[in-house]
Amino acid sequence: MPTPIGHIASGLLLFAAGSRSWRKQAGVLLALFFFALLPDIDLAFGLLLAGNANAFHHQATHSIFFVVAAGWIGGQLLGQKGRHAPLLITAGLIHLALDLLAKDTSAPYGAPVLWPFWNGYIIAPVRVFSDVQRSGDAASFLPSLFNRHNLQTIGIEMAVFGLLWGLWSAWSYSRRGYERKASS
Ligand SMILES: [Zn+2]
Repeated sequence: MPTPIGHIASGLLLFAAGSRSWRKQAGVLLALFFFALLPDIDLAFGLLLAGNANAFHHQATHSIFFVVAAGWIGGQLLGQKGRHAPLLITAGLIHLALDLLAKDTSAPYGAPVLWPFWNGYIIAPVRVFSDVQRSGDAASFLPSLFNRHNLQTIGIEMAVFGLLWGLWSAWSYSRRGYERKASS
């Protein structure tokens, strides 16, 4: 799985790609962060209910069914007749895609993205992101996150999202230039 920082970066990129105003749509941005991270709420369930972060990780919350349902409900709660639901659903789907593109060292590999229709696990044939080394145990979970390996994982995420950000910026800059030319 990518780190929470990688998932938040994906939400930020999704927000920026819509040419949205930071000031006017701060609520949408916060909702995007929430839905970009939401599938990993299973770590919190594990810590709280079983004393082990891994107890329910990469199960139901890592399915298309869950992210579509949660994003749809989130869109209704955000108002404007659910106008932002597709955006929140996209944030959740990107979370699943990032997880499938990440290194997974313990079976079953990947996530049950087609649950509840099919319980099998799926992982991408190519690996882009690294994994997060952490202890499942509730007492040592937080301190175990701070290590050199996870810093490298964040570095890969920043490089990938920095590249995507750069490509998007270059594309939107050239598009604005083209529009200026067309209107003059
Ligand atoms: Zn995840």
